[in-house]
Amino acid sequence: MKTHYTIPIFIPERACPFRCIYCNQYHITNCSQTIDKEDIENTIQAYLKTFPEQSEKKVAFFGGTFTGMSIDEQNHYLDVVLPYIERGLVKEVQLSTRPDYITPEILENLRRHGVGTVELGAQSLDEEVLRHSGRGHTVACVERAASLVRDYGFQLGLQMMVGLPFDTKQRTMATAQKIIDLGAECTRIYPTLVVRDTPLARLYESGRYEPLSIETAVDWSLAALDLFESAGVTVLRVGLHPSEGLRDGSQLLAGPFHISFKELVLTERWRRRLEKLADETSGEHFEVAVPSEEINYAVGYGGANRKMLQQRFKTVRIYGLRN
Ligand code: SF4
Repeated sequence: MKTHYTIPIFIPERACPFRCIYCNQYHITNCSQTIDKEDIENTIQAYLKTFPEQSEKKVAFFGGTFTGMSIDEQNHYLDVVLPYIERGLVKEVQLSTRPDYITPEILENLRRHGVGTVELGAQSLDEEVLRHSGRGHTVACVERAASLVRDYGFQLGLQMMVGLPFDTKQRTMATAQKIIDLGAECTRIYPTLVVRDTPLARLYESGRYEPLSIETAVDWSLAALDLFESAGVTVLRVGLHPSEGLRDGSQLLAGPFHISFKELVLTERWRRRLEKLADETSGEHFEVAVPSEEINYAVGYGGANRKMLQQRFKTVRIYGLRN
């Protein structure tokens, strides 16, 4: 099986008709200007040098609203990648966009330009959450766009957020289920963060929005992750890409940010499994074999699960087994 690699290109927010309540794209991507062709070329070439030849590579355009740009502007970016696809160096393009910028004309053009996957920012599939998040589109709009994307033969991605205003665990789960029902092949789960200079920051500062605690964000994300995995939907990411400004806190006002958010989620999954196993284990010694690729999560972030077991047993052994 080929390993998959992604070359990320961040498109700054230029085409968004709305400012979603939580978004300050400039802060999140750390980039405020159009990227010129040469920069994209350089990025692609730099990444290609680091990837094994036999792997499968995609170029992914993130940020902004890709299909909200004029067709000419979209092609400005896509035309840079096309020669790499034609030479077999890159398999396809993946891009993310808003569901209200999907039309047959747009999809036709993307199809001609080597795009294989279209990810739509659904964020929530609850009308009230969408409305209070300033998304500017409805659930029906996501449904229509998702079905068009699939009809045109693209792989469909639907991204979701947890902890938006008026979100609940039940609504998070209903959103995840709907993403599955809409036929998404992939998804991303992002906890809502309060980034400076956003409408959400003002709501937070005036006490009208309370972000999720890290524990709750982990709990809701894990519930969604479990549901996606059991339905065979690929979860491409759990947690935001930790930009400089999020890491050093200069752009982050509040919210469940953690540099290894996904690791926390998987640690929690293993904590629950191991606790159950511990309850069924008598004696002073605890030993468990886990799939070797899961060993870090089983031991837990910062050794959290091992420490939890060490409080209950004299000796603890968690070891990895290859399949
Ligand atoms: S659509 Fe995306 S880039 Fe545009 S404002 Fe909303 S979150 Fe930001």
